[in-house]
Amino acid sequence: KEELLEVSDLKTHFPIQKGILKRNTGFVKAVDGVSFKLAKGETLGIVGESGCGKSTTGRSILRLINPTSGSVKYKGKEVTSLSKGELLKLRKEMQIVFQDPYASLNPRITIASILEEALSTHSIGKDKKERREIVLQLLEKVGLNRQLANRYPHEFSGGQRQRIGIARAIAVNPTLIIADEPVSALDVSIQAQILNLFQDLQEQMGLTYIFIAHDLSVVKHISDKIGVMYLGRMVEYASKDDLFSNPSHPYTQALMSAVPVPNPLMKKERISLKGDVPNPAAPPSGCTFHTRCNACMEVCKTIKPKDIVISPGHVVSCHLYDSAYN
Ligand code: SF4
Ligand code: MG
Repeated sequence: KEELLEVSDLKTHFPIQKGILKRNTGFVKAVDGVSFKLAKGETLGIVGESGCGKSTTGRSILRLINPTSGSVKYKGKEVTSLSKGELLKLRKEMQIVFQDPYASLNPRITIASILEEALSTHSIGKDKKERREIVLQLLEKVGLNRQLANRYPHEFSGGQRQRIGIARAIAVNPTLIIADEPVSALDVSIQAQILNLFQDLQEQMGLTYIFIAHDLSVVKHISDKIGVMYLGRMVEYASKDDLFSNPSHPYTQALMSAVPVPNPLMKKERISLKGDVPNPAAPPSGCTFHTRCNACMEVCKTIKPKDIVISPGHVVSCHLYDSAYN
Protein backbone atom coordinates (compact mmCIF):
# COMPACT_ATOMS: atom_id res chain seq x y z
CA LYS A 1 0.00 0.00 0.00
CA GLU A 2 1.08 3.52 -0.82
CA GLU A 3 2.33 5.41 2.26
CA LEU A 4 0.50 8.74 2.47
CA LEU A 5 1.79 10.12 5.74
CA GLU A 6 4.92 9.38 7.70
CA VAL A 7 5.44 11.08 11.04
CA SER A 8 8.82 10.58 12.71
CA ASP A 9 9.84 11.64 16.20
CA LEU A 10 7.47 14.61 16.13
CA LYS A 11 7.93 16.98 19.06
CA THR A 12 5.93 20.08 19.94
CA HIS A 13 7.10 21.81 23.10
CA PHE A 14 5.50 24.97 24.45
CA PRO A 15 7.44 27.41 26.62
CA ILE A 16 6.09 27.95 30.14
CA GLN A 17 6.14 31.65 30.86
CA LYS A 18 5.88 33.04 34.36
CA GLY A 19 5.36 36.47 35.85
CA ILE A 20 4.79 39.81 34.19
CA LEU A 21 8.14 39.54 32.44
CA LYS A 22 7.01 36.27 30.88
CA ARG A 23 10.33 34.62 31.62
CA ASN A 24 10.66 31.11 30.24
CA THR A 25 10.83 28.68 33.10
CA GLY A 26 10.70 25.48 31.11
CA PHE A 27 8.68 23.62 28.53
CA VAL A 28 5.50 21.62 28.34
CA LYS A 29 6.37 18.67 26.15
CA ALA A 30 2.86 18.44 24.68
CA VAL A 31 4.06 16.10 21.94
CA ASP A 32 7.31 14.36 22.75
CA GLY A 33 8.43 11.96 20.06
CA VAL A 34 5.43 10.61 18.14
CA SER A 35 6.01 8.34 15.14
CA PHE A 36 3.65 6.45 12.83
CA LYS A 37 2.89 5.67 9.20
CA LEU A 38 -0.45 5.85 7.47
CA ALA A 39 -1.37 4.49 4.03
CA LYS A 40 -3.98 6.04 1.72
CA GLY A 41 -7.52 5.08 2.67
CA GLU A 42 -6.55 3.97 6.19
CA THR A 43 -7.73 5.29 9.52
CA LEU A 44 -5.46 5.84 12.49
CA GLY A 45 -7.27 6.25 15.79
CA ILE A 46 -5.40 8.26 18.42
CA VAL A 47 -6.68 7.71 21.95
CA GLY A 48 -5.84 9.13 25.35
CA GLU A 49 -7.10 11.26 28.23
CA SER A 50 -7.41 15.02 27.84
CA GLY A 51 -4.07 16.78 27.93
CA CYS A 52 -2.14 13.80 26.51
CA GLY A 53 -1.19 15.73 23.37
CA LYS A 54 -3.47 14.10 20.84
CA SER A 55 -4.97 17.37 19.55
CA THR A 56 -1.55 19.00 19.48
CA THR A 57 -0.28 16.05 17.44
CA GLY A 58 -3.09 16.58 14.91
CA ARG A 59 -2.53 20.30 14.74
CA SER A 60 1.23 19.93 14.42
CA ILE A 61 0.80 17.61 11.43
CA LEU A 62 -1.38 20.23 9.73
CA ARG A 63 1.00 22.98 10.85
CA LEU A 64 -1.82 24.84 12.59
CA ILE A 65 0.87 24.75 15.28
CA ASN A 66 4.53 24.65 14.26
CA PRO A 67 6.24 21.55 15.66
CA THR A 68 9.52 21.98 17.54
CA SER A 69 11.32 19.13 15.77
CA GLY A 70 10.81 15.88 13.92
CA SER A 71 9.47 15.12 10.49
CA VAL A 72 6.05 14.99 8.84
CA LYS A 73 6.17 13.59 5.32
CA TYR A 74 3.06 13.85 3.20
CA LYS A 75 3.33 12.01 -0.14
CA GLY A 76 7.07 12.04 0.48
CA LYS A 77 7.21 15.82 0.93
CA GLU A 78 8.46 17.37 4.18
CA VAL A 79 5.60 19.42 5.65
CA THR A 80 7.54 21.03 8.49
CA SER A 81 9.65 23.11 6.09
CA LEU A 82 6.94 24.24 3.63
CA SER A 83 6.56 27.94 2.80
CA LYS A 84 3.23 29.70 3.43
CA GLY A 85 2.22 29.40 -0.21
CA GLU A 86 2.99 25.69 -0.35
CA LEU A 87 1.16 25.24 2.93
CA LEU A 88 -2.01 26.79 1.52
CA LYS A 89 -1.92 24.27 -1.34
CA LEU A 90 -1.46 21.49 1.16
CA ARG A 91 -4.43 22.68 3.22
CA LYS A 92 -6.63 21.72 0.29
CA GLU A 93 -5.50 18.14 0.74
CA MET A 94 -5.48 18.04 4.55
CA GLN A 95 -8.54 19.20 6.43
CA ILE A 96 -9.60 19.23 10.06
CA VAL A 97 -12.95 18.59 11.72
CA PHE A 98 -13.20 20.12 15.19
CA GLN A 99 -14.80 18.82 18.35
CA ASP A 100 -17.14 21.78 18.75
CA PRO A 101 -18.60 22.60 15.35
CA TYR A 102 -20.47 25.56 16.77
CA ALA A 103 -17.32 27.33 17.88
CA SER A 104 -15.77 26.74 14.47
CA LEU A 105 -18.73 27.98 12.38
CA ASN A 106 -19.21 31.72 11.92
CA PRO A 107 -22.61 32.40 13.57
CA ARG A 108 -23.33 35.46 11.39
CA ILE A 109 -23.37 33.80 8.01
CA THR A 110 -25.60 31.10 6.53
CA ILE A 111 -24.27 27.60 6.17
CA ALA A 112 -24.36 28.02 2.38
CA SER A 113 -22.01 31.01 2.72
CA ILE A 114 -19.76 29.08 5.11
CA LEU A 115 -19.37 26.32 2.53
CA GLU A 116 -19.04 28.76 -0.40
CA GLU A 117 -16.24 30.47 1.46
CA ALA A 118 -14.37 27.18 1.80
CA LEU A 119 -14.77 26.61 -1.94
CA SER A 120 -13.63 30.07 -3.04
CA THR A 121 -10.58 30.00 -0.71
CA HIS A 122 -9.33 27.12 -2.82
CA SER A 123 -10.74 28.39 -6.17
CA ILE A 124 -13.26 25.59 -6.56
CA GLY A 125 -16.22 26.27 -8.90
CA LYS A 126 -15.99 28.78 -11.76
CA ASP A 127 -18.63 31.22 -10.47
CA LYS A 128 -21.13 31.80 -7.68
CA LYS A 129 -23.81 29.78 -9.42
CA GLU A 130 -21.59 26.74 -9.80
CA ARG A 131 -20.41 27.02 -6.19
CA ARG A 132 -24.03 27.18 -5.06
CA GLU A 133 -24.75 23.93 -6.84
CA ILE A 134 -21.69 22.28 -5.25
CA VAL A 135 -22.87 23.50 -1.83
CA LEU A 136 -26.30 21.92 -2.28
CA GLN A 137 -24.69 18.64 -3.32
CA LEU A 138 -22.41 18.79 -0.27
CA LEU A 139 -25.39 19.21 2.04
CA GLU A 140 -27.00 16.11 0.57
CA LYS A 141 -23.74 14.20 0.83
CA VAL A 142 -23.65 14.76 4.60
CA GLY A 143 -27.34 13.96 5.04
CA LEU A 144 -28.80 17.48 5.27
CA ASN A 145 -31.73 18.78 3.26
CA ARG A 146 -30.89 21.33 0.50
CA GLN A 147 -33.71 23.51 1.79
CA LEU A 148 -31.64 24.28 4.90
CA ALA A 149 -28.90 26.06 2.96
CA ASN A 150 -29.96 29.56 3.96
CA ARG A 151 -30.16 28.93 7.68
CA TYR A 152 -27.65 29.99 10.31
CA PRO A 153 -25.54 27.65 12.46
CA HIS A 154 -27.61 28.24 15.62
CA GLU A 155 -30.68 26.87 13.88
CA PHE A 156 -29.14 23.40 13.84
CA SER A 157 -28.73 20.66 16.44
CA GLY A 158 -25.26 19.56 17.56
CA GLY A 159 -25.29 16.55 15.26
CA GLN A 160 -26.41 18.66 12.28
CA ARG A 161 -23.72 21.21 13.01
CA GLN A 162 -21.11 18.49 12.98
CA ARG A 163 -22.48 17.42 9.58
CA ILE A 164 -21.88 21.01 8.41
CA GLY A 165 -18.34 20.89 9.82
CA ILE A 166 -17.78 17.68 7.89
CA ALA A 167 -19.29 19.21 4.72
CA ARG A 168 -16.84 22.09 5.02
CA ALA A 169 -13.93 19.66 5.38
CA ILE A 170 -14.89 17.56 2.35
CA ALA A 171 -15.84 20.63 0.25
CA VAL A 172 -12.30 20.96 -1.08
CA ASN A 173 -12.04 17.26 -1.92
CA PRO A 174 -9.24 16.49 0.55
CA THR A 175 -7.16 13.34 0.82
CA LEU A 176 -6.60 13.38 4.59
CA ILE A 177 -8.98 14.49 7.32
CA ILE A 178 -7.90 14.93 10.92
CA ALA A 179 -11.02 14.61 13.06
CA ASP A 180 -10.34 15.97 16.55
CA GLU A 181 -12.87 14.37 18.89
CA PRO A 182 -15.67 14.94 16.37
CA VAL A 183 -18.29 13.10 18.43
CA SER A 184 -17.21 13.87 22.01
CA ALA A 185 -19.66 16.77 22.38
CA LEU A 186 -22.62 14.83 20.95
CA ASP A 187 -25.29 12.69 22.58
CA VAL A 188 -24.48 8.99 22.49
CA SER A 189 -27.49 8.38 20.22
CA ILE A 190 -26.11 10.83 17.65
CA GLN A 191 -22.48 9.63 17.88
CA ALA A 192 -23.13 6.44 15.90
CA GLN A 193 -24.82 8.40 13.08
CA ILE A 194 -21.85 10.71 12.73
CA LEU A 195 -19.38 7.81 12.87
CA ASN A 196 -21.38 6.09 10.12
CA LEU A 197 -21.24 9.26 8.04
CA PHE A 198 -17.45 9.35 8.40
CA GLN A 199 -17.27 5.74 7.26
CA ASP A 200 -19.60 6.25 4.28
CA LEU A 201 -17.63 9.28 3.11
CA GLN A 202 -14.38 7.35 3.48
CA GLU A 203 -15.71 4.64 1.18
CA GLN A 204 -17.12 7.08 -1.38
CA MET A 205 -14.15 9.43 -1.47
CA GLY A 206 -11.22 7.17 -0.54
CA LEU A 207 -10.41 9.41 2.43
CA THR A 208 -7.61 8.81 4.91
CA TYR A 209 -8.41 9.67 8.54
CA ILE A 210 -6.65 10.48 11.74
CA PHE A 211 -9.43 10.07 14.21
CA ILE A 212 -8.81 11.49 17.68
CA ALA A 213 -10.89 10.37 20.67
CA HIS A 214 -10.54 9.97 24.41
CA ASP A 215 -12.32 6.67 24.37
CA LEU A 216 -11.30 3.39 22.73
CA SER A 217 -14.90 2.41 22.03
CA VAL A 218 -15.30 5.41 19.70
CA VAL A 219 -12.36 4.46 17.48
CA LYS A 220 -12.90 0.71 17.68
CA HIS A 221 -15.03 0.34 14.55
CA ILE A 222 -13.54 3.02 12.37
CA SER A 223 -9.77 2.45 12.87
CA ASP A 224 -7.29 0.26 11.03
CA LYS A 225 -4.48 1.25 13.38
CA ILE A 226 -4.57 2.70 16.86
CA GLY A 227 -2.07 4.80 18.78
CA VAL A 228 -2.50 5.22 22.53
CA MET A 229 -1.05 8.45 23.90
CA TYR A 230 0.02 9.37 27.42
CA LEU A 231 1.70 12.67 28.35
CA GLY A 232 2.92 13.46 24.86
CA ARG A 233 4.14 9.96 23.96
CA MET A 234 2.57 7.22 21.90
CA VAL A 235 2.93 4.43 24.45
CA GLU A 236 1.40 1.74 22.24
CA TYR A 237 0.84 1.59 18.50
CA ALA A 238 -0.62 -1.38 16.63
CA SER A 239 -3.20 -2.54 14.14
CA LYS A 240 -6.64 -2.37 15.69
CA ASP A 241 -6.89 -6.16 15.74
CA ASP A 242 -3.53 -6.58 17.49
CA LEU A 243 -4.34 -3.85 19.98
CA PHE A 244 -7.68 -5.35 20.94
CA SER A 245 -6.50 -8.97 20.99
CA ASN A 246 -3.21 -8.24 22.73
CA PRO A 247 -3.26 -4.91 24.57
CA SER A 248 0.24 -4.76 26.04
CA HIS A 249 0.99 -1.43 27.68
CA PRO A 250 -0.46 -1.24 31.22
CA TYR A 251 -2.14 2.04 30.27
CA THR A 252 -3.81 0.48 27.20
CA GLN A 253 -4.93 -2.43 29.38
CA ALA A 254 -6.57 0.00 31.79
CA LEU A 255 -8.31 1.91 28.97
CA MET A 256 -9.40 -1.38 27.44
CA SER A 257 -10.96 -2.57 30.67
CA ALA A 258 -13.30 0.43 30.51
CA VAL A 259 -14.67 -0.51 27.06
CA PRO A 260 -18.08 -2.16 27.48
CA VAL A 261 -18.22 -5.73 26.15
CA PRO A 262 -21.23 -6.68 24.02
CA ASN A 263 -21.64 -10.02 25.80
CA PRO A 264 -22.33 -9.56 29.53
CA LEU A 265 -21.27 -13.18 30.21
CA MET A 266 -17.75 -12.23 29.12
CA LYS A 267 -17.07 -10.56 32.41
CA LYS A 268 -13.85 -8.70 32.72
CA GLU A 269 -12.21 -6.98 35.56
CA ARG A 270 -12.09 -3.25 35.42
CA ILE A 271 -8.58 -1.94 36.04
CA SER A 272 -8.82 1.40 37.75
CA LEU A 273 -6.06 3.92 37.26
CA LYS A 274 -4.54 5.41 40.38
CA GLY A 275 -4.81 9.17 40.66
CA ASP A 276 -5.10 11.78 37.94
CA VAL A 277 -3.03 12.58 34.89
CA PRO A 278 0.12 14.32 36.22
CA ASN A 279 0.77 17.96 35.37
CA PRO A 280 2.28 17.91 31.85
CA ALA A 281 4.54 20.83 32.86
CA ALA A 282 6.18 18.63 35.51
CA PRO A 283 5.92 15.04 34.24
CA PRO A 284 7.15 12.15 36.43
CA SER A 285 10.72 10.92 35.94
CA GLY A 286 11.57 7.72 34.08
CA CYS A 287 8.40 6.23 32.61
CA THR A 288 5.92 9.08 32.89
CA PHE A 289 3.17 6.54 33.57
CA HIS A 290 4.94 5.07 36.61
CA THR A 291 2.91 7.06 39.16
CA ARG A 292 -0.26 5.30 37.99
CA CYS A 293 1.03 1.95 36.81
CA ASN A 294 0.04 -1.29 38.56
CA ALA A 295 3.09 -3.08 37.17
CA CYS A 296 5.65 -0.41 38.09
CA MET A 297 9.19 -1.71 38.76
CA GLU A 298 12.15 0.12 40.37
CA VAL A 299 13.73 0.84 36.99
CA CYS A 300 10.53 2.58 35.81
CA LYS A 301 11.03 5.44 38.24
CA THR A 302 14.32 6.56 36.73
CA ILE A 303 14.77 5.22 33.21
CA LYS A 304 12.61 6.21 30.26
CA PRO A 305 11.35 3.11 28.40
CA LYS A 306 12.37 2.43 24.78
CA ASP A 307 9.95 1.65 21.99
CA ILE A 308 9.92 -2.15 21.78
CA VAL A 309 8.56 -3.98 18.73
CA ILE A 310 6.73 -6.97 20.21
CA SER A 311 5.39 -8.24 16.86
CA PRO A 312 5.47 -6.76 13.34
CA GLY A 313 3.80 -3.34 13.49
CA HIS A 314 3.09 -3.57 17.22
CA VAL A 315 5.19 -1.15 19.27
CA VAL A 316 5.07 -0.76 23.06
CA SER A 317 6.98 1.74 25.14
CA CYS A 318 7.36 -0.17 28.41
CA HIS A 319 10.17 -1.86 30.39
CA LEU A 320 8.05 -5.01 30.83
CA TYR A 321 8.90 -5.91 27.21
CA ASP A 322 12.58 -4.96 27.40
CA SER A 323 14.80 -8.03 27.81
CA ALA A 324 17.33 -5.85 29.63
CA TYR A 325 15.02 -5.64 32.67
CA ASN A 326 13.26 -9.00 32.68
FE1 SF4 B 1 4.49 0.58 34.00
FE2 SF4 B 1 7.13 0.47 34.08
FE3 SF4 B 1 5.86 -0.17 31.86
FE4 SF4 B 1 5.96 2.36 32.67
S1 SF4 B 1 7.67 1.11 32.01
S2 SF4 B 1 4.20 1.29 31.92
S3 SF4 B 1 5.83 2.12 34.88
S4 SF4 B 1 5.76 -1.23 33.80
MG1 MG C 1 -8.17 17.83 22.62
